[in-house]
Amino acid sequence: MIGSVEKGNGMTSERTRQRMVERLRQAGITDQAVLKAMGSVPRHAFVDEAIASRAYEDSALPIGHGQTISAPYIVARMIELLRQASRPLEKVLEVGTGCGYQAAVLSKLFKEVYSVERIGQLLEKTRSRVWSMRIHNLRLKHTDGTYGLAEAQPFDGIIVAAAPQAIPDSLLEQLAVGGRLVIPVGGTKQQLMVVDRLEEGFSQQMIEAVKFVPLREGSVQ
Ligand code: SAH
Repeated sequence: MIGSVEKGNGMTSERTRQRMVERLRQAGITDQAVLKAMGSVPRHAFVDEAIASRAYEDSALPIGHGQTISAPYIVARMIELLRQASRPLEKVLEVGTGCGYQAAVLSKLFKEVYSVERIGQLLEKTRSRVWSMRIHNLRLKHTDGTYGLAEAQPFDGIIVAAAPQAIPDSLLEQLAVGGRLVIPVGGTKQQLMVVDRLEEGFSQQMIEAVKFVPLREGSVQ
């Protein structure tokens, strides 16, 4: 497993990452495929070098523009929930690319991954990072994900990394039948929600309390 992005030592080593996976398991993540994917994506490569030594702590870290990389537990938990949909999912949309970490994990587990980000500068930085990692089944787009990604819909799965006050209609509309949406909802108090699209209508479950940056409308450079 020693490749060009594996050359880190000490706090960014393979062993440190496996300890993170062990903590995820202890925290209740049971999906082996998710644990394997989390064990293979070098989280330290998605944050600035100055904080890379903290990349495998279970905490959110700053990635610039007032945004954060989500904590490993919540990334694993949301993807695990997505994979528990009523049927296998192939085409997935992530809203809120940020540094691209969750998108990279998703790209290990789903055939086709789209990810949208509203902050242009952040996305450009992420685009070059992802390019150098040769992730070929991931498409990135600079747009307001409140409206999903109409040009590529419907999606089997949608995962949202920022919290709206209420679930945006566009995301429900762009979900395929049998597909699943995983989304934090709320303001100061947020709940992680899972919404399944049925033959007719939707079913909704509340999962657990969470803390995400807010989903903001409009895109900026
Ligand atoms: N997926 C990231 C998490 C980034 S934090 C990870 O792997 O760590 C959430 C991101 O959502 C931020 O980069 C923020 O700019 C973005 N965001 C907020 N509102 C958005 C919107 N309406 N459309 C697209 N992205 C949005």
